[in-house]
Amino acid sequence: MALDDLLSTLERQNGTSGTSDVLADVPPKPAPTLGGTSGTSGTSENGKGEAQAEAFPVWLIVCPDRRRPFEVHLWPPATLAEVLALYPTGTDAQPVRQHVEPRSCRTCRYLKRPGLSGGLCAGRDDLPHAYTAGHPLRRLPDDGGASCGTWEALT
Ligand code: SF4
Repeated sequence: MALDDLLSTLERQNGTSGTSDVLADVPPKPAPTLGGTSGTSGTSENGKGEAQAEAFPVWLIVCPDRRRPFEVHLWPPATLAEVLALYPTGTDAQPVRQHVEPRSCRTCRYLKRPGLSGGLCAGRDDLPHAYTAGHPLRRLPDDGGASCGTWEALT
């Protein structure tokens, strides 16, 4: 086979379907692209790549040993890789994009307001007692619960 014949054959193979008789002036079929955004280097499809890199506080975990995906709440927020590391049997995870109350004592189920107090904690033992040693409630932390690992949303 002559070089020209070989080149013609290769050009025909790279052309779009139905154009086998059309030679070099038909551009080859472009490779499919993923629907990612710039900055995700084509690793994402339909925005999924953004979710992989972004940290979220709520995820739906898909596990083959469970009938339905289950919801997990994480603080600090976690990326997809961190979530799957925490749940090694999980095969996929989707972030739950919902309005999540900011973490603070004001949005915590453990906040108690006895009498005229400005608020006391009923969820942590490591904080100073509210009034006297042995008091069941504790003083709120200086950061207002923003970094509290015991925080739970009001239900
Ligand atoms: S310290 Fe933590 S557990 Fe206690 S009320 Fe504040 S956020 Fe809730």
